[in-house]
Amino acid sequence: MNILNNTFNTPFNTAPFSKIKNEDYLPAFKTAIEKAKAEIDAITSTKEGPNFENTIEALDYSGQELSRISSIFFNLNSAETNDDIQKIAQEVSPLLSEFSNDITLNEELFKKVKAVYDIKSELDLTTEQKTLLDKKYKGFSRNGANLKGEDKEKLRAIDRELSQLKLKFGEHILAETNNFEMHITDETDLSGLPDGAKEAAKQLAESKEKDGWLITLDYPSYIPFMTYADNRNLREKLSKAFGSKGFKNDDLDNQDNVLRIAELRYQRAQLLGYKTHAHFVLEERMAETPEKVNAFLHQLLEKAKPAALKEFKTLEDFAKDLDGIDNLQKWDSAYYSEKLKQKLFSLDDEQLKPYFKLENVINGAFTVAEKLFGLQFEEIDTIDKYHEDVMTYKVVDTEGNLVSIFYADFFPRAGKRNGAWMTSYKSQMIKNGENDRPHVSIVCNFTKPTKSKPSLLTFNEVTTLFHEFGHALHGMLANTIYPSLSGTNVYWDFVELPSQILENWCYEEETLKLFATHYETGELIPMELIEKIKASATFNEGMQTLRQLSFGMLDMAWHANESPETITSVKSHETKAFGETQLYPDVEENCMSTAFAHIFQGGYSSGYYSYKWAEVLDADAFEYFKEEGIFNKTVADKFKIFVLSQGGTENPMTLYKKFRGQEPKPEALLKRAGLLK
Ligand SMILES: [Zn+2]
Repeated sequence: MNILNNTFNTPFNTAPFSKIKNEDYLPAFKTAIEKAKAEIDAITSTKEGPNFENTIEALDYSGQELSRISSIFFNLNSAETNDDIQKIAQEVSPLLSEFSNDITLNEELFKKVKAVYDIKSELDLTTEQKTLLDKKYKGFSRNGANLKGEDKEKLRAIDRELSQLKLKFGEHILAETNNFEMHITDETDLSGLPDGAKEAAKQLAESKEKDGWLITLDYPSYIPFMTYADNRNLREKLSKAFGSKGFKNDDLDNQDNVLRIAELRYQRAQLLGYKTHAHFVLEERMAETPEKVNAFLHQLLEKAKPAALKEFKTLEDFAKDLDGIDNLQKWDSAYYSEKLKQKLFSLDDEQLKPYFKLENVINGAFTVAEKLFGLQFEEIDTIDKYHEDVMTYKVVDTEGNLVSIFYADFFPRAGKRNGAWMTSYKSQMIKNGENDRPHVSIVCNFTKPTKSKPSLLTFNEVTTLFHEFGHALHGMLANTIYPSLSGTNVYWDFVELPSQILENWCYEEETLKLFATHYETGELIPMELIEKIKASATFNEGMQTLRQLSFGMLDMAWHANESPETITSVKSHETKAFGETQLYPDVEENCMSTAFAHIFQGGYSSGYYSYKWAEVLDADAFEYFKEEGIFNKTVADKFKIFVLSQGGTENPMTLYKKFRGQEPKPEALLKRAGLLK
């Protein structure tokens, strides 16, 4: 009997990690897919006429076993993987995409869904049910379910070509990145570089059996060199190599790919009845339309530009004074910014770290959650873990009711991917009147304790922990009926609100007093350090903002364009799109679009604006807390009731207005960023 296809019989129905063997996965997936298919067949073959319960609701509750197994397997593939797991992933992924295609292309199923959708105004549905119905219907219609004959074929052909082009786009960038290396044999050329970066460059050279040092276009090599290397000519060389990826008119050129992807996305949107690709994407976003996104970006540009120009002037003067630089270039940007920042703030990680012992920071996050939302975190050792470093908690409310199980996995190890993320092992839902509570997890890569020293976090790691913990609260406090609307299942440009807002508490004296004490002396973090943290956080914010806005505008210029077939030059289209956002002189041989993987390879097309959008939201929401007190119970309750517990049950703007009493305004962000005086 396969453990994964059965009831787990574990405390709180938690994942039975220690009992799962790798060879269990593939058969368990196959069985679960068969079960899910049978559930779908039951929906399509019922003799009863389609209604909300037997179609929409049944569809949403279907496949629970499959999603449970998937979450366990793919979470482990990120946090604790090995060759075997990766091999299984290769085998399982096509099965899963085939299954999901079987559903979206199932015409019988769509007929039933459409029958319910067509009479939705006559049905007496709750808001959550209406949202679910729309979501299910659009899951089909946005994939072409309403298209007939030839058009349907056209759509499939476009999708096939798009997925090949995206793959090719990515392969070109990867090859460009791998093909370049800067070989350094004279150590003076590395002057300015921190020891760690030098060491890494040496090791890289050794691994390729070369003498000296190697610098590449991979971020861990590229970023330190651009930030610290004193040799301006080499910075220029490296910067130009980075900026010309996919733009050399050779085999790896991406210009035609960019033009074709933009054109195909436009055609696809037209087929489905949308004006442009951006209109198609934004239909399922809080921002709603390209017009609103563009207005949003330009409004911020207007506010940020004066500050950016001033900062740029300061940086120019600084570089001139220091090194006699006359014409500040892109390859000087990170270098002089870092030098100026050091001069102004002289704030380094080592100074702060003793105040941020990991255990203290976790307890700080728990205390914040308790003060705001009445949550209690109790460490438990009765449930299975997938690694001994994982910490496990039972989360209860003020009445002692179970809210969630919480896993926290903090230290790097082989088998864990980089970065930090929140995920869940079981989603929340209410079925047959029973509220099934979620199992939520955060995974990070913080410095591990040693025998003599505990884990001490940089301030950046502190905000990362609060960020992921904010996502986790969104998952833990979920309180919806349907699993596909629960927790973090919200529109893309809304999902970072709970995480980013929580970071704000890290900058407040009232919060830091709760946990930021020296791990040896117990002394509270000095206020002057907190002030420095705050001041340095907004350093060159105007220029940073302009840069983010330029990417958002470029994204929209490619995807909200109503005649992409008329664009002939990628570079001049890009230059036009950047408009008023550029501070440095243009570099003729460089192009951003041909290596803009976020929007041409990944899933960020028409979505790059969401980084700034989420900042506006979190600053505006936190402003409300600041007005009433950062631990004010009424505001916290509203945030819990209207945002955290609601998941995707209602349009996010409606939810936000219920919480805030008004639409979000950019002023709070501009103030926080020091762009409004
Ligand atoms: Zn996040």
